[in-house]
Amino acid sequence: MPQPRVYETEAVVIRKMNLGEADRLLTLYTSSLGKVRAVAKGVRRPRSKLGGNVELLTCSRLMLARGRNLDIITQSQTIDSFMAMKTDLQRTSWGLYVAELVDRFTPERQASRALFELLLKTLNRLAGDGVGETALRYFELHLLELAGYRPQLSRCPGCNTELPLSCRLSFSPVAGGLLCMRCRAGEPEVVSLSADAIRMLGRLQDSDGEDVLKTGLSQALNA
Ligand SMILES: [Zn+2]
Repeated sequence: MPQPRVYETEAVVIRKMNLGEADRLLTLYTSSLGKVRAVAKGVRRPRSKLGGNVELLTCSRLMLARGRNLDIITQSQTIDSFMAMKTDLQRTSWGLYVAELVDRFTPERQASRALFELLLKTLNRLAGDGVGETALRYFELHLLELAGYRPQLSRCPGCNTELPLSCRLSFSPVAGGLLCMRCRAGEPEVVSLSADAIRMLGRLQDSDGEDVLKTGLSQALNA
């Protein structure tokens, strides 16, 4: 069945680049198609109708027309511009970091509703009060999981033995998890993690993050 020429979707702008005199090439993370590159024609003209609806880190409802190479945005309406995040330099840089990771981790046109929701949840948190970098750690862990790289924190990926919860252990990015003492010996590239840090990672990985975000990192470590 041929695909319809025009489609509607929710999307967050994760990257932008000027194109020609007044256009912009946008990378969107959409709810229905995953990552899509699209052109916003005339958007840099002062009276463009698209204007602020297709700014970086803004979530909008868009109408797009399929093109031969790139789709073209024909209509737009802002859903959330996450203004509280954008008025704070530190939070804006965190938001851009999140957008860049989504861009780097995803192929084009492979839909993931879960990733779209994780992106929205993270931008909402960065626009909220007093959350800070814990929201980024939550995002990173869950992005890894959705990309198929869930860090293994309870069993050693080398020998599958259950790991002790109360001591310092070594994390191996190559093995994809925490190693037991025996497997650690043959692995040169490891990062040593305290028992508190490991407990924290586990709590962020296995929850929706709300309790940890509310209490903050240092308090959660002492809980
Ligand atoms: Zn092992």
